[in-house]
Amino acid sequence: MVNIDKKDFSKWFNEVLELAEIVDIRYPVKGMPVYMPYGFALLKKLFDKLEKLLNDNKHHQVLFPLLIGDEEFKKEEQHIHGFSQEVFITADNERKLIIRPTSETAMYPILKLWVKSHSQLPFKIHQTCCVYRNETKSTRPLIRGREVYWNEAHTVHETFEDAKLHHKIAVDIYKRFFDSLLISYIVLVRPDHDKFPGAVYTVAFDAVMPDGKILQIGTVHHLGQNFSKAYDFKILTSDNRMDYPHQLCYGISMRALAALISIHGDEKGLIIPTEFSDTLFVIIPILKNETKELVMNYCEKVRKLLEVYGKVEIDLREKSSGEKHYYWELKGVPFRVEIGKNEVESNKLVVKDRLNHKYSILLDEINYELIAKMKETLDQKIKSNAVKNFSSMIKSAKKVEDFEDLSGLAKAGWCENEKCEQFIREKYHVEVRGYDFNYFENKKLANCIVCNSKGYEYYWGKPY
Ligand SMILES: [Zn+2]
Repeated sequence: MVNIDKKDFSKWFNEVLELAEIVDIRYPVKGMPVYMPYGFALLKKLFDKLEKLLNDNKHHQVLFPLLIGDEEFKKEEQHIHGFSQEVFITADNERKLIIRPTSETAMYPILKLWVKSHSQLPFKIHQTCCVYRNETKSTRPLIRGREVYWNEAHTVHETFEDAKLHHKIAVDIYKRFFDSLLISYIVLVRPDHDKFPGAVYTVAFDAVMPDGKILQIGTVHHLGQNFSKAYDFKILTSDNRMDYPHQLCYGISMRALAALISIHGDEKGLIIPTEFSDTLFVIIPILKNETKELVMNYCEKVRKLLEVYGKVEIDLREKSSGEKHYYWELKGVPFRVEIGKNEVESNKLVVKDRLNHKYSILLDEINYELIAKMKETLDQKIKSNAVKNFSSMIKSAKKVEDFEDLSGLAKAGWCENEKCEQFIREKYHVEVRGYDFNYFENKKLANCIVCNSKGYEYYWGKPY
């Protein structure tokens, strides 16, 4: 029987990734695990959803090259400063080439050739690809790797305000994406010292992992004119001037999958929301010699009835039905259907959902409304568990000692002086994550927890 103790989260995470066949960490290069078929199918489902949300919002999908010329890479000063320590470098006979750590410097010299006028705006593109960062910190599959699978979007706008409005829309697209994963998160405006290199401001999605550490799962950056100026990228404005446009970039990586696995999973393995499970129903037949044909015919009939609602598997492996149940629980499949002689004779089926809610259904009762209701019941339970865990992980800190052994996020005032933050960081390994994006224009007042001078309410936590 599978029983993976979630109290030791780190161990749980590694075991689930291995047992549920998400990634294989034996690839002999640090920070580069292999996505296995089951894991990649799940990752792909997540990114298909994200791509659809972006496409529906008229972002056009592109694919830019992996290598960036050294000169292009070096143009935006803060950007190069922020990434220079962690880029992989290669070369051809003529010059040094940078393996993209993110694609601004690959894309913007080309966007400049494509976008010439305000009439082409807003200009919105996105791509799903891998980016590479030579991580010096210890790596972890799906959380911190040297190869990052992600989707990055890049937009161009005429004015700072246009870009700011679209920034809010991008945050909403990401909210829709993370909400569909049924996970809980908070949207924070990062402090200046933690912005994306080259950004005017950065808004980030933070999730709380079961060990109380904070995982950044998405970011939306307002770049202002920093990059357009660096690349001498000008457009014809609506009042007939040539000016630098304002840009945004935003991204979500495979950490979204790490969050889904970690937040929902339990001691039996993965729990996958019905929308993202490749298989919706698994039929486990109880086959005895004398009734084998009868049961198999009935299973086929049930398969036909169920497969209009999602993919159905019949597990015919030479294993006990107990082993099969554990296997599919580990994989996080939403519904298991056990069928034996009794079910055939009573024209029934017994369905168990992944959170062990049991249904006894007459074959005649299977219809769209019933299955939709069963899916909704399971998804709501998954969501409410996530919400409950998340709200138990947010507290208020009244004095610096409250940061001792902090698990989750703590609200506390900060004067925005880096020295006060550094004091907390060094003493408690806790850092300021940002303030609530809902109060973007109007930060909540709160005196600094360190120096007691005037400040604002910030969220603090231990990062990955
Ligand atoms: Zn202070």
